[in-house]
Amino acid sequence: MEPGALFVQGLEVVYGRSVRALRGISLDVPANGVVAVLGANGAGKSTLLRAVSGTLSLHRGAITAGSIEYGGERLGGRDPAVIVRAGVVQVPEGRRVFANLSVDENLQAGALSMRGLRRGKRVSTATRTSRDRVFDLFPVLAERREQRAGLLSGGEQQMLAIGRALMASPRLLLLDEPSLGLAPRMVGRIAGVVREIAAQGVAVLLVEQNATVALDLADKAYVLDVGEVRLAGSSADLARTDEVRRLYLGEAEAARPDAAAGAPPGRDPRPAPRKPLRRWEG
Ligand code: ATP
Repeated sequence: MEPGALFVQGLEVVYGRSVRALRGISLDVPANGVVAVLGANGAGKSTLLRAVSGTLSLHRGAITAGSIEYGGERLGGRDPAVIVRAGVVQVPEGRRVFANLSVDENLQAGALSMRGLRRGKRVSTATRTSRDRVFDLFPVLAERREQRAGLLSGGEQQMLAIGRALMASPRLLLLDEPSLGLAPRMVGRIAGVVREIAAQGVAVLLVEQNATVALDLADKAYVLDVGEVRLAGSSADLARTDEVRRLYLGEAEAARPDAAAGAPPGRDPRPAPRKPLRRWEG
């Protein structure tokens, strides 16, 4: 098995007694790859990330079947702290930062689970190095390091949430809707940072409703629909399918009968021919 790769096989998740949120989900994230998961509200995207990060029980959810393996280690159902130590770190949806702590304290909190730091204890060299890397990636956080996190803009809080996750030195970063509620310019900046993180060798599993951003960033993508993998393939192939263009990229053009028949694309700015999409390749 490839070290640093994530393999999910036949994953089933329920909430409480009756909500079957994921049904037979299989996907993989190669080491150093960026993989996107698309889907409408309620499709199961966040549930998938919770299952991988071990936080399902915080939401009264549980894995009932299937497996999650990372770098040869079985992660399914393990404690979240064990999963962080294995190198898998989640940035939760809604950029939950500690509003009353400073930017610096938020970043130190991100290193806690890894290095056993306590408030007031001297910041270790390793933590300082990680923090400097975060500040290189997000110079605005360095400028605001003493400021209370609650006073940052939405985009800056997203940067801090990502920065805090990076303090745990992830090898696989789980990102839940990083573009949610952000202005287009800020979405572009966050996308640039995700690209930079991936270029530094960190694998990324990205959950997004903004399919344009997700398909642009990812090498490979999966479309979830009511808890199941509906489509899977390279981002380039998925971006050319009618279903993704119509439902997730907001292109009415893809619904035209001549487009569906593979006729010349007319006003379509992407002239590449459509490829048939394989369902999950197993
Ligand atoms: P969104 O984009 O709106 O966040 P999502 O694709 O992330 O949606 P999930 O939040 O994973 O979807 O939800 C998948 C299904 O599980 C939905 O039917 C949802 O109502 C249900 N669900 C999610 N969390 C819980 C919970 N804590 N208890 C019960 N059901 C839940």
